[in-house]
Amino acid sequence: MDTITLGQVTVTRVREYFGSVDMTPGTFFPESPEEVWKPWLTPHFLDASTNMVNSAIQTWLLRSEGKTILVDTGVGNHKERPYAPVWSRLETDFLANLARAGVAPEDVDIVINTHLHIDHVGWNTYLDGRNWVPTFPNATYVMPKDDFDFWNPENGHQPRLGRGNQNVFEDSVAPVHKAGQTLLWEKGHQIDADLRLDAAPGHTPGSSMLTLTSGSDRAVFVGDMLHSPMQIVEPDCNSCFCEDPAGARATRREVLGWAADNGALVIPAHPDGHGAVEVAREGDTFAVKGWAPFDPYTERS
Ligand SMILES: [Zn+2]
Repeated sequence: MDTITLGQVTVTRVREYFGSVDMTPGTFFPESPEEVWKPWLTPHFLDASTNMVNSAIQTWLLRSEGKTILVDTGVGNHKERPYAPVWSRLETDFLANLARAGVAPEDVDIVINTHLHIDHVGWNTYLDGRNWVPTFPNATYVMPKDDFDFWNPENGHQPRLGRGNQNVFEDSVAPVHKAGQTLLWEKGHQIDADLRLDAAPGHTPGSSMLTLTSGSDRAVFVGDMLHSPMQIVEPDCNSCFCEDPAGARATRREVLGWAADNGALVIPAHPDGHGAVEVAREGDTFAVKGWAPFDPYTERS
């Protein structure tokens, strides 16, 4: 299964990449205790044979109130990523996967970038001859203004990520802004009656979450607030990509607590396995209560 229905909204998982991103648990999550990883996180979230974390790069395709909405747009093809070789000059079949889900680029009404990291904005654009142009010509690209300002090289911020986002603003954000297709929001933004964006800072200054409230169903798309289900049981363990470690921990605890108390499905950007998770409070931390019915990926990219 790659589609679930929540209230009036359908949610489809569209794959770009699945496999190792060449990081051990100790590199990816430096604060995580070694014993938390085995055995429950294998095989979907950790390859025990290589001790490498598995990641999925995927877009969440939503159909809501007659609109076609994409949440995060992966890495993209042909991008020059000198400081992130695993994402450099990819040639994936993402657009074919999107077509298999029934969506052509011109059908997309809204693109939501939860934040503006390298692996969340890539398919915002594609290379047309020598130029990066919007992949989705009829879409409004909804972006958090705090991230737009933070990652804009003209503002001269020095990210903790170093040069990991090199070229990303220039080839994946600026072209859609120049085309007049961006909507930069602050504090919060209502997409429609069932979908709302709110700030969830920490992983990046403008990191956001999309809350789905439809009928009796609840879900929250959390981007990279949660990189691995490991962080449900160890909510204070950040990824090495979190710009504000204290803020990321506080946001993770707050959002997981809200999801536990409201029976909301937590839908992160990257996990493989069943793609989304129900959580419960357990003492001072959280536990996995159940998984969504998405089929795990079986083949690596
Ligand atoms: Zn990410």
